[in-house]
Order: sequence, then C-alpha cells, then structure tokens
Amino acid sequence: MARVPAYAALTSTSPLAPFAVERREPGPKDVEIDILFCGICHSDIHQVRDEWGGSIYPMVPGHEIVGRVRRVGTSVGKYSAGDLVGVGCMVDSCRSCDACARDLEQFCHQRCAFTYNGTEMDRATPTFGGYSTAVVVDEAFVLKVPESLDPAGAAPLLCAGITTFSPLKQWGCKPGDRVGVVGLGGLGHMAVKLASSMGAEVTMLSTSRSKQEDAKRLGAAHFALTSDEATFDRLAGHFELIIDTISAPHDYNRYLGMLRTEGTMVLLGAPPEPTPVSAFALLMGNRRLVGSLIGGIAETQEMLDYCGEHGIVSDVEIIRAEQINEAYERVLRGDVRYRFVIDVASLKGD
Ligand code: NAP
Ligand code: ZN
Ligand code: ZN
Repeated sequence: MARVPAYAALTSTSPLAPFAVERREPGPKDVEIDILFCGICHSDIHQVRDEWGGSIYPMVPGHEIVGRVRRVGTSVGKYSAGDLVGVGCMVDSCRSCDACARDLEQFCHQRCAFTYNGTEMDRATPTFGGYSTAVVVDEAFVLKVPESLDPAGAAPLLCAGITTFSPLKQWGCKPGDRVGVVGLGGLGHMAVKLASSMGAEVTMLSTSRSKQEDAKRLGAAHFALTSDEATFDRLAGHFELIIDTISAPHDYNRYLGMLRTEGTMVLLGAPPEPTPVSAFALLMGNRRLVGSLIGGIAETQEMLDYCGEHGIVSDVEIIRAEQINEAYERVLRGDVRYRFVIDVASLKGD
C-alpha cells in the first residue's frame, strides 16, 4: 500500500481540497502508473456536485489519465516500466458477460468499475481517480499512448476523445458527410477534429460567436450560431449526423429538424434534467435520436492509435492542482479553450 497526494471533494458543496488516497500494492496483473497529466471533464463537475445523484464522498475525480509505468506485476505482459500509458473511465469489469464479450465493458451486466465515484468489482473498495499522483490498474484496462503524442494533449483523449470517436465510427462517418457538432467545449472540439480528420464536412453549432475562428482552425468548414433562430431554418434537413455535446438542458426537437431523412442525432451531453421529445420530430424523415457512452477498451486503443497516426491531440490549458476549483467555474462559464489538464507534478509540490 502507498499513500499518495490527491485532490478530493468531501461533499457536494465543498471546493476540492488536498487529500491523500491509498493505492494497493500491485498484484500479478497490475500496472502501477505515475500520473503525469489528468484532464478535467465536465462529468467530473456533474459528479462532484452530485448532479446525477448517488455520488460517493470523499471523491477524487479524474478519468483522463496519462502517465508512465513505474512497476508491473509478475504476470503483466503488455507493459513495462517507462511506457507511456493512459487510463480512461473504467478500471475493471466482469469480463465474461455478453457486453464484456462484445468489447463494451462500459455496459458490463455486473456494472463496470468506474475509475472514480464507484467501487472495484468487489463492490466494497472505493475507486479514486486521476487528480492524484499515482494509480494501480489491471493491465486489461490500461491503454498504450503513442509516444509521438504530447502527453498533456493526449490525456483528454481518454474520455473526450473516445466519447466522440465511438459515435463517429458507430454511425459510419465518411468523407463528404455533413456532420453538425453542437457545443464547442472539451467533447465538441474533439468531435470537430476527429470528424474532419475522417473527411466529413463539419459545421460547428455554438452559442459562442467568440469561438468561430477556433472552430475553423480545429477543422470545421462552417460555423452557425444557435442563439440565432434563423440558423435552424437555414440548416433544416441538412445533416447526416449531429453530435450533441451540450452539458445543460436544451430543446432536442429544434436540432432534430436539422437532420436529413434517416439522419441521426447522437446525445453525448448528459444534462441531469429530462427534456421532452416530440414524436413528430422523429417520425418526419425517419430520424434517429440515440445516445452513446464513452467506448470499450479495444475501441479506446483503436482511437489512441488513430490519433497517433493522424497527430491528433486535445487543445489544452495546463493548470496546477490549486487552480482546479477556478477551472470548474470557468468550464461552467464556457470559458475553456478547450480542455483544462492538471499538471500532476503540482500535487507533489513541484
Ligand atoms: P464542456 O467543455 O463544458 O462543453 C460543453 C459545451 O456545451 C460548452 O462549451 C458550450 O459550447 C455548450 N453549452 C454549455 N451550456 C450550454 C447551454 N446552456 N446551452 C447551449 N449550449 C451550452 O463539457 P464537456 O466536458 O465537453 O462535456 C459535455 C457533456 O458531455 C457533459 O454533460 C458531460 O457530462 C458529458 N459527457 C458525456 C460522456 C458520454 O460518455 N456520453 C462522456 C464525457 C462527457 P458553446 O459555447 O459552443 O455553445
Ligand atoms: Zn469524461
Ligand atoms: Zn461484464
């Protein structure tokens, strides 16, 4: 056992503060990782503030982890000391149910072990995330991060990257497809980069005029302001695929109207409150409204390899651990370009 420095929320209303967590001695299949960087996902904020219900405290958030292997257990075959690796939203699953057999561990019938705000598969040992200096994870849930990628920029790939890559794959994004990305934050900017790298003609649908130039630089061919009602008329029936990353409640029906016949809108954003959907918004044009939750481990590795080949990383603003609470407020104001990443050295007092 090792006690390592971390940052934690002790209640849903207290700011995050310095904390310490116990990490287990690596077992035969475990990889001990010295964390270099951890991204701040909007899901961290939803969970710290218990917006989805059922949050467990103390909570050490963080599921966009990049680090280097310090030690490996005796039967670890995939990794050795010094390797650049990542850990995303999951650290274990049952590995035998139908979902696990289909490489969809996030839907494990026994409920996977989420990286934080959950427990290991024993349902007793709490899990603590990447706002900490080290973590011990079974090799089956550790990802190889291409050495060619900047480690800080690669950290957000472990959630924002896979969450946007997976639906683009599921819905067959291909050259020439008209893809709308809704919300230019952490997920949104990865969706723009990935969809444009796949040859799609991307339109950024944003409430923030100030992000227009960035959207183009990230790969969007077009930018449309969703605070302007005319946008919804002008783009009616336009998109094969819409990727919706908005974190707050909004009217899905208006966006569905921008889909072509048999077009698909994928919900990635997870606002706590439900939103009514009109049957006619779907019936007219056989439109589909679907969801997508992160991605399985094999697909996460595929995404990292793809990003390695295409030189894709997140645009990050690196912060020290003491700035986490301020960063949360800035995310909530939409003032993020486009992912905050914690330099974990700052947790060691460096
Ligand atoms: P983020 O960086 O805060 O980005 C969200 C963006 O949505 C904002 O930058 C803003 O973009 C837009 N937005 C925010 N509030 C809005 C409002 N009231 N009306 C319209 N637009 C609004 O968040 P993120 O980290 O990308 O996460 C986005 C959501 O996805 C969160 O709910 C998160 O929990 C969820 N999530 C889901 C998964 C999954 O597996 N499905 C994985 C990770 C995260 P503009 O300024 O461009 O309008
Ligand atoms: Zn996330
Ligand atoms: Zn399972």
